[in-house]
Amino acid sequence: SKKVIIIGAGGVGNVVAKKCALNPQVFSEVLLASRTLSKCDAIAKEAKEIGLPISIKTRQVDADSVPELIKLFTEEKPFMVINVALPYQDLTIMDACLATGVHYLDTANYEPKDEAKFEYSWQWAYQERFKEAGLMALLGCGFDPGVTGVYTAYAHKHYFDEMHYLDIIDCNAGDHGKAFATNFNPEINIREITQKGKYWENGQWVEIDAMSIHKPIEYPNIGPKESYLLYHEELESLTKNFPTLKRARFWMTFGQAYLTHLEVLQNVGMTSIQPIKFNGMDIIPLEFLKAVLPEPGTLGENYSGQTSIGCQIKGIKDGQDATYYVYNNCHHAECYKEVQAQGVSYTTGVPAMIGASLMIQGDWMKAGVYNVEEFNPDPFMEMLNIHGLPWHELHNITLPHEY
Ligand code: NDP
Repeated sequence: SKKVIIIGAGGVGNVVAKKCALNPQVFSEVLLASRTLSKCDAIAKEAKEIGLPISIKTRQVDADSVPELIKLFTEEKPFMVINVALPYQDLTIMDACLATGVHYLDTANYEPKDEAKFEYSWQWAYQERFKEAGLMALLGCGFDPGVTGVYTAYAHKHYFDEMHYLDIIDCNAGDHGKAFATNFNPEINIREITQKGKYWENGQWVEIDAMSIHKPIEYPNIGPKESYLLYHEELESLTKNFPTLKRARFWMTFGQAYLTHLEVLQNVGMTSIQPIKFNGMDIIPLEFLKAVLPEPGTLGENYSGQTSIGCQIKGIKDGQDATYYVYNNCHHAECYKEVQAQGVSYTTGVPAMIGASLMIQGDWMKAGVYNVEEFNPDPFMEMLNIHGLPWHELHNITLPHEY
């Protein structure tokens, strides 16, 4: 077993820390570090109260600072770091890993603060440096990206000779009882959904106006929910790693009240990332909005309903058309009971813990920078069933939306 440092004590960090602390066979020590030490301490205290076998250590760190990270890693000597801070910190943490010989895992690709543009290019550019250092970086190991890539790799390995059409469908049919809140970091969430939509078709990206394509999709045990075509980061790596895909799209549900709030906020300029002067100070409206919205980590109590995320794939097996649907449904209330988290944090944090376990056990260990679908999906799929995210599969179904 090996020592891990988790960076970021938000909604996801809470789940990762507790899930690692439940697993002494894999993790010898668990250290949670974040910008605000009191948030780390609160999580460590809860972990103790619910009787987790590993006691979580805590430290303060500003992950925007490479020297601070190097100091932390040098003093603590972890085997690897699980980065569940924000996408802005990906590169500083990767730099500190290279400087100190620490393996790396994250759940969201790098995005510069002053430009709402997320793509893998910045992190893929670290490939040679990680290889030469004999270190591994596993990118995008949450649910989406993360499990959706593992599902796709599993489908490819077991059920298709060629995959042609991929639709990732993501539904949150939960109710947190707040008028408006985002299920993960509001700044990142709002940047993601206010940018243009994009999907892959016949070898190129097709760009659409934000939220302009939508239709009801039927989710298991939930029913039909209006789903919106968005650009999501795993489409970039999946279309690269599975070049037979003729089309790849990502759909996410939004309720009408959420969209109305978002429209108003956008119309009044509250979602902008351009600095404005306020009382002689430069402030960024979206950062200010984040400060007044509920934190994702606080939504868990009384959150009812469930999430459903899966991959629907159509392709060819033994010369015949084949379709396949693999998905997980997750109940917010059960997550809260287990680790005091809502379902979106849970479905992200559990896969991060699983990815780290596979790296520590050597099942997934190769020097360089990789996306999850580049590894053998089987041990990951097995661990999803064991650690709280069981999946279900359906074959040769009529897919809910036409191809
Ligand atoms: P939160 O906003 O709840 O948590 C983010 C945490 O990171 C906070 O504790 C914050 O500290 C800390 N942090 C921010 N900046 C720094 C810094 N410079 N140094 C140290 N700590 C810092 O977000 P979530 O937990 O919901 O999300 C965490 C990550 O997971 C995000 O990158 C998000 O994009 C990703 N994600 C991925 C998903 C997937 O399926 N792949 C799904 C959902 C989320 P403080 O409290 O002091 O601000």
